[in-house]
Amino acid sequence: MSRRRVSSLPPIPRDPSDDYSIGPVAARRALWSKVAGTDPLHVAGVPVPLASARGKIENLVGFAQVPLGLAGPLRIDSSLGTRELYVPMATTEGALVASYSRGMKLCAAGGALRARVLRHGLTQCPMLVYRDAAAAERACGIANASLERWQKLVATTTHHGALRSADARVLGRRLVLELVFTTGDAIGINMAARASELVSADLEKRTKALARFVHGQDVEKRANAKAQLWGRGRSAVADVTIPRKALAQLARTTPEKLVAILESYRVGFAELGTHNWLVQSANGLAAVFLACGQDLAYVGECATGQLDFAIDARGDLYASAHLPALLVGTVGGGSGQGTAAECLALLDCLGEGRGDAFAEILAATLLAGDLSLMAAFTSHEFVAAHERLGRNRPQAAGKGKKPPRRKLRP
Ligand code: NAP
Repeated sequence: MSRRRVSSLPPIPRDPSDDYSIGPVAARRALWSKVAGTDPLHVAGVPVPLASARGKIENLVGFAQVPLGLAGPLRIDSSLGTRELYVPMATTEGALVASYSRGMKLCAAGGALRARVLRHGLTQCPMLVYRDAAAAERACGIANASLERWQKLVATTTHHGALRSADARVLGRRLVLELVFTTGDAIGINMAARASELVSADLEKRTKALARFVHGQDVEKRANAKAQLWGRGRSAVADVTIPRKALAQLARTTPEKLVAILESYRVGFAELGTHNWLVQSANGLAAVFLACGQDLAYVGECATGQLDFAIDARGDLYASAHLPALLVGTVGGGSGQGTAAECLALLDCLGEGRGDAFAEILAATLLAGDLSLMAAFTSHEFVAAHERLGRNRPQAAGKGKKPPRRKLRP
């Protein structure tokens, strides 16, 4: 696969008179072809072979259609170097792509938005049950001395997955085994589930457990407090400093207003008891996941994280997003075919060696989206933007009617 470096990308073509006609859509597809080096045939409607759904679904009848747009350009300083990208997003929420695009523009005003993966670790937590606590304690000692043995066992079942750690703890007469895997460029849940099965069966046999369960602490696909602290999958951080002047010009807001609104949101987050201390992370995750063939059911878990705004010594805004639990893959699952492969290729994130870069783009995209939304809240433009871009009035649908244009500023 060819790996390209893009130094500077033009703005996405738009036609204010009718942006949904073939002219502007064709212009955007031409831009895609130029950047990716191939035409987005499936995105443009060419069907994939039915057999490509094998292993991904049962009782196949067809393929769901969701509109797909481009946000960007996103300027990102990632583990692959500094790059500019258009980010594909599939959604039916009007105003969402525009909001992320605006956030990316804001971030670009601060130079490249930096994003890095900090940690890898996909957990699986099988549970074994013993006659009493003493038996569980004995088994715990055996488990905690078995890492090397299990690393060899795991290597018999996957080339790309590896067991990083194995920590057992006693819970009454039960033993919870926390296995942490690295999984190459895949989410790795299938490979880790199979490896975990082998490991827990080995412990069951050696310690004469009464029962064994696949999940003793099932964090899979649900918001959970462990994700905030320890992370799961890929943990990524993105940050940027945006000049005060750019915030005023592009978003009619100030660093002080943004810091103040986040403070008050945090009061609400604390009351909710949520693990998602970002603002619209689920929006960006779901839209990029859908475009890029990721498993959407992970969104609740992946949306976990923290948003931080501060004012630096020059009076500019420092902003960061920390996403400790990104379960994403550029190999395996739904990533390899059709629109998903085209979208990953547009990000230069299709296949081997691209897992970290994809997670970094996600973290950067989510920070851009949260910045844009918070700015819209501080300037009271949120409702007006949704009225203009995101209302679906059935009587107007399909008749070429445009919704009434409202002023963004009161
Ligand atoms: P997968 O498609 O099951 O496996 C990935 C495959 O790609 C493996 O065979 C791996 O080979 C191979 N591979 C080649 N190059 C690789 C590279 N650079 N990095 C990593 N792997 C590479 O994908 P998965 O990520 O393990 O599982 C994701 C799928 O599982 C999704 O469809 C998801 O919806 C589904 N899922 C499963 C469960 C479950 O509990 N089983 C739960 C939720 C979701 P090796 O095996 O030799 O390493």
